[in-house]
This record gives sequence, structure tokens and C-alpha cells, in this order.
Amino acid sequence: MFSTKLLRWFGQAKRDLPWRKEPRVPYRVWVSEVMLQQTRVDVVIPYYRRFLRRFPSLKSLAAAPLDDVLALWSGLGYYTRARNLWKAARACQGALPRTAAALRELPGFGPYTAAAVASLAFGEDVPLVDGNVARVLARVFRLEGDAREESWTVAATLLPKGRAGAFNEALMELGATVCTPRAPRCGECPVSRECQGRSAPERYPQPRKRPERPLLEWTALALQRRDGAVLLSRRPEDALFAGLWDLPATEIKLPGVRQHGELADCGVVEQTLTHREVRVSIQRGRGSGTPRSKTLRWVLPLHLGALGLSSLARKSLRRAGIAGA
Ligand code: SF4
Repeated sequence: MFSTKLLRWFGQAKRDLPWRKEPRVPYRVWVSEVMLQQTRVDVVIPYYRRFLRRFPSLKSLAAAPLDDVLALWSGLGYYTRARNLWKAARACQGALPRTAAALRELPGFGPYTAAAVASLAFGEDVPLVDGNVARVLARVFRLEGDAREESWTVAATLLPKGRAGAFNEALMELGATVCTPRAPRCGECPVSRECQGRSAPERYPQPRKRPERPLLEWTALALQRRDGAVLLSRRPEDALFAGLWDLPATEIKLPGVRQHGELADCGVVEQTLTHREVRVSIQRGRGSGTPRSKTLRWVLPLHLGALGLSSLARKSLRRAGIAGA
């Protein structure tokens, strides 16, 4: 039977990952699931360890300033995840709710994260579907079209009662390690006999139509003081990379700060995000003065590591020749 074979395989083949230590701590399961969204396991591991060292409990995360959380998240991308993690920690007052339905009430808990925490940490019998699970199920059952919706229904019918956590994790693991997007290793697959798509796995899942990504073009200003400090600006709450620090860009208004002499053109940096592409033209120059806005500050290069900066901001700073980014 599908679930029995899968669970037996998982018992032997599962990877030893830091968030899989038994007994499962709900807070740790949650942090790992949030970090793993759209991010590879090997990238997440050092971030996860650092994060848990600094915020070992839900309480410590709830008590921390958002800036500290963003600084630790710096470079991991998709910063809304960090902001929602922090907001949810403050909202749930010391303990995570134990069911997917109650978790969905918290900021940042979509169907996947709620089901992951409820099943892996609290043993609730709920299915879950992420990209890996959708791919495995689309292949095993030859699901046509965009298989995501249908995968939730199929996953629910396969769920072994009382073992949802292990089953969900096993399906994700199979997708991550055996039934991979390219060149699935069907010869080593524990459910190859049950798999209807085995003869042509590359046909599944069928590609979704992706909306075109709009291109955003910014101009950023890298102003440096005599002591080497660079002027950074906090991105507005309703903007891309909200709340992170970056070079002041596009509509450049710098109350209280003076720019001296000519600006030098440092070229362009580019970043492709899920929903858009960003091109930033960097200008570099000298500056001085005391910023008259809380969203502006001079930062010495050696302090850049302690700030929440997007990878795009780091690229921009490097392009402007500012060391420490
Ligand atoms: S047999 Fe191949 S295509 Fe089918 S689930 Fe296993 S690895 Fe994926």
C-alpha cells in the first residue's frame, strides 16, 4: 500500500536535519517550515541555527525588536516571512495553537504552513501540499493541468490516521530527494509500482502559466562620509523589501544631508524576484550632515552586518565599492 511503503522508506532514508530532532518542538518546526518556503535546505541550515541561538523560544522571539529579527534574516530573502513570524509570535501569547484551523488565524499562516505545524508538531490528521508533494502526486496519479488544487484532495485520501506528520514529511522528502523535478530516480523509488506516471515522469506536473514579471527601475545613491560611513534609508512599510535598510533610491529626498561634488556612475545591479525584476542604477558620491529623518542613518561598513539588508541592497553596496556589505 502507498502510505505503508512510503513510511517504511522514510524510516530508513530520511535526512538528519536539525529541525527533525525528537521530540519535536512546535516553535522549531514552525521556524524551519517558514525558512524552508522557497529556500533550499542547505541554505536554511545555518540561518536556522543562528536564529535558534538568538531566539531559542517563542517568548524570546516575541520580546525581540523586529530589526533584530530582520537582521538575522538578512540574505534569506522573502522578508515578509520574517515580519509575519515576529507578528505571529507576538499574537499567540506564549504558545502556538494546536490545530491548522486555529493557526490560520495568525499572520503568515497559509494552508501549507498551518497544516505543516499542525501535523508535524501536534499530530493533527491534516494533509499538506507543497511543490514537492504536488509533483509527486501529479506523477503518481497522472494529474492533468495545474495539479495543486487536486493534490490537496488526493493527499487527504492517502493520509494514514494518526500518522499524518510522518506521512506528510515522507511525501515531501520523496519529492526533495528521489522524485526530483529533473531526472527522478524511479529505480530507487519506494512507490514506483503504484506510480502511474513512471514511464513519462517529465510530463508531470504540467507547467503553470506564470504571469510576466514587471520590471522596476530604480536609481540609488551611495553617499559616503569622510569616515567611510554610508547613508542608508529604511524602505517604507508599503514598499518592496519593507522595513529593510537600503541605499536611498528613486525618489531621493535626504532632509538634513548634503551631497558634495560630482556623482560617479557605478553601473547597474539586477535582481529577479518571484513577481518582478528590479534594476538599480547606482550613483556614488560624498556627503555629510545629520539626517533629519528616522528612516535615514549613516552606517559604518563594519556595522552593515548587524542591519537587515536585502541581498539586492548588499549587491548595490558592493557595486558602489563599499566594503563590509
Ligand atoms: S516512480 Fe518515479 S515518477 Fe513515480 S513517484 Fe517514484 S520517482 Fe516519482
